[in-house]
Amino acid sequence: MLPQNLGACKNPGKAAPVTVTVPATPGILTCFPKFQVVDYRFISRYNYRFRKSRLRLLPPETWRVFKPYPIRFKEIYKDAIWGGDRLRSLFGKDIPPGGRTGESWEISDHGEDTGLVANGDLAGVETLRTLCEKYPQEVLGKALAAKRRGKFPLLLKFIDANDVLSVQVHPPDEYARLHEDGETGKTEAWYVIAAEAGSRLIKGLKPGTTKDDFRRLLAEGKLEQCLNSFEVAPGDVVHIRAGTVHAIGKGILLAEIQQNSDVTYRVYDWNRVGFDGAPRPLHVDKALDVIDFGAPESPPKLTCADEPGVRRMVECDKFVLDVLTLYNGSYEGTTGGERFEVLCVVEGKGSIAWAEGEEEIKAGASLLIPAALERYRVAAGDRVRLLRCYVPG
Ligand SMILES: [Zn+2]
Repeated sequence: MLPQNLGACKNPGKAAPVTVTVPATPGILTCFPKFQVVDYRFISRYNYRFRKSRLRLLPPETWRVFKPYPIRFKEIYKDAIWGGDRLRSLFGKDIPPGGRTGESWEISDHGEDTGLVANGDLAGVETLRTLCEKYPQEVLGKALAAKRRGKFPLLLKFIDANDVLSVQVHPPDEYARLHEDGETGKTEAWYVIAAEAGSRLIKGLKPGTTKDDFRRLLAEGKLEQCLNSFEVAPGDVVHIRAGTVHAIGKGILLAEIQQNSDVTYRVYDWNRVGFDGAPRPLHVDKALDVIDFGAPESPPKLTCADEPGVRRMVECDKFVLDVLTLYNGSYEGTTGGERFEVLCVVEGKGSIAWAEGEEEIKAGASLLIPAALERYRVAAGDRVRLLRCYVPG
C-alpha cells in the first residue's frame, strides 16, 4: 500500500527545496519533485525548516536521516593492576585474557575512547562521537546540543576492583579547565553491584581534617587515619563530588556514572608498583589544590530499597541517577524529546521496547536512549534493576 500523502506540494516539478503543508502530527510525507516517500519523524533537523504548519524541505540528496533506537556500544576495556575477571563471570563480557580487566567503558566518548555502535542500523558505522556530531539535537536534545557543542557530557563504566584502587581525587570544572588542557572536572557516582563480605569504600575525610593533617599523615604513611571508610553491599549508592578524596576497596564491582573526564590525581597507592614494576605516579600537589577540606558532611552512602519502583538516588547539576526496580511489571519512560538517557542494567533481565522495535536486555548491558526516541518501555523478566542517568535541564 502506498503511504498516504499528507502533504500538499506547492511547487511540483521544480527543483528542491519544496514547501509542503503538513498536519501537526507525525506521519508519512510524499515529497515532490522526486516522489520520495519520507517518514518525516526521522528527518534530521538539518533537512527541513519547520514554521507553523509549513515544512520547507532541503534537497533530498543532502538529507541525513536519524532513526532513533536504544543504542548499545562495543565495550572499551581497560586493564589495571587492581583489575579482575568478574565482568566475564558475572556479565558474560568478552574481556581480554589475563584476568586484569579493571574497567569497561560502556558509554564513552573521551579522547581515543569513543564507543562504536554495536546494535541496530548504525552498528559498526557510527561511534558515539560521530552520532553527537551528526545528530546533536536528536541524540543529546536541544538544550545540551546547543550548550556543549555536541560533546557527550557523561561517561558510564563498570569497575571491577579485585584489589583496592589508589586513594585519589578529581578536580572541579574550573580547575580542570585551567590546569588540564580544557578538560572538564569529574563528579561521579557509584552503584555497588557486587561486594565481597567486608568490602569497603572510602569517601571523604574524617571531620576536622585539615590540609596540614593530611600532608603530615601522608608523609608518615598513615593516611588511612584521616580517611572516611565504610562497608558496602550490593544496592548501595555513593555520590563523589569533585574535590572529595575517595577509593574503591578490594572485592567490589560497581557501575560508575561520571562527568566525561579522565583527570585523576592519585594521592596514595598503598606502596604498590604498576605493570612496569615501578610505583605509579602520584599527583600530591594538584590533589592538595583541589581537595575540599571544608566540604560539608554528606551521607557516605544511600541504600536502594528492594521494592519495585523508581528511586532518585543522586541529583546534582552534573547528572541525575535513578534506580529502577521491576518485578514482572513494566516501566514507561520518555525522554520528552528533550534529553538523552543512559540506562545500565545492573541485575536481572527483561526487554526494552520502542515505537519501532524491541530488544532483550540483561545485567551488564548499557543503552543510550537518544532524545529523539521519546517513549520506551522496559519490561522485567522476573526481576530487573536498571540505573537511569541523565543531565538535568
Ligand atoms: Zn574517581
